[in-house]
Amino acid sequence: MDLLKELKSMPMTLDLLQSTRIGMSVNALRKQSTDEEVISLAKSLIKSWKKLLDASEEKSEEKKKSLSLPTSSSKETGNSRDQSSNKRQEPPKTPTTPKITTFPPAPVTCDAVRNKCREMLTTALQADDDYIAIGADCEHIAAQIEECIYQDVKNTDMKYKNRVRSRISNLKDSKNPELKKNVLCGAITPEQIAVMTSEEMASNELKEIRKAMTKEAIREHQMAKTGGTQTDLFTCGKCKKKNCTYTQVQTRSSDEPMTTFVVCNECGNRWKFC
Ligand SMILES: [Zn+2]
Repeated sequence: MDLLKELKSMPMTLDLLQSTRIGMSVNALRKQSTDEEVISLAKSLIKSWKKLLDASEEKSEEKKKSLSLPTSSSKETGNSRDQSSNKRQEPPKTPTTPKITTFPPAPVTCDAVRNKCREMLTTALQADDDYIAIGADCEHIAAQIEECIYQDVKNTDMKYKNRVRSRISNLKDSKNPELKKNVLCGAITPEQIAVMTSEEMASNELKEIRKAMTKEAIREHQMAKTGGTQTDLFTCGKCKKKNCTYTQVQTRSSDEPMTTFVVCNECGNRWKFC
């Protein structure tokens, strides 16, 4: 008992435990002894040392083991069985909270020139009231366009400024309102408008295509905004995840099949399923 008490008052380290193998000796003593006091003190010593060992192992495992350490009242055979079964259990996985983002966020910038350009792009997008009807977040889209331009040019010199300026003048072009609407509803992505040439932005040929697209794209965007049914039936072509929302719309005459618009809740990717 004296030796055990002495051990109890000693500060134990993992090194000491491993070099002296004192745990084995105390455990042997516990097994052989018939003295209740000796057994109980030996047990409590082993228990406290075991915590040291556990702490050096995996952190997640540690909690489980110390929780499942035998209590002095429970029977020997039961203990070892409990422990082995507890060891096999996997630590609970922390559930990842699903994030719903319609567009990837644009990183915040502290650069005055870049922020000014974002502001100007926002103003251009907010001209007329198209953005209200479409339900677009102009500041966000502007930030994304600016970010794409900046990532492409890598500085805010002339090339960058000209690029921003030409986007703004085309977005403001009253003869080409479809461009802005398409950007607002996402039919033309920030990545796309960031690199389009002035000809591409203003071309008549593209204008015609856009006109046809715009109506559908706006409707699609509004559908996605106003809800729909969440499903795991579709796999996103972009991020390969199965977290989508779909809406079915009668786009043509009533005897034709419904069109299914799908939007990915993870990355904002949209597509039509026929
Ligand atoms: Zn996706």
